[in-house]
Amino acid sequence: MSSSGSPSHAAGFRTAAETETQLNPTKPMKRRTEITIEIDRVTVISRRESNQAWCAACGAEVSHLTAPEAATLSATDVQTIFRHAASGALHSSLTRHGALLICLTSLLHAPQNKF
Ligand SMILES: [Zn+2]
Repeated sequence: MSSSGSPSHAAGFRTAAETETQLNPTKPMKRRTEITIEIDRVTVISRRESNQAWCAACGAEVSHLTAPEAATLSATDVQTIFRHAASGALHSSLTRHGALLICLTSLLHAPQNKF
């Protein structure tokens, strides 16, 4: 038995790796894109029928909103609408079903800082 040792050539590959660092004198152009998004708050209240009702305070037949509609329109909550209706800041009346209706005219004329 002859053990034949495999010829192992220590392969030493020495490659002088020269890394050429190329400095690019011209900076990459960074394009800045400015996007301006303007969001306009649009409140659309759609209903099947117009809530024309008599407003005793206005002394005229005016459009009325439900409390949630009035809250949406004035960007507040229903509780605030109820409070202003109770205090008389907003004209209100009750439907025959007992629902509170807010006079649109009084709502539009109410100062915004009230809400
Ligand atoms: Zn009114």
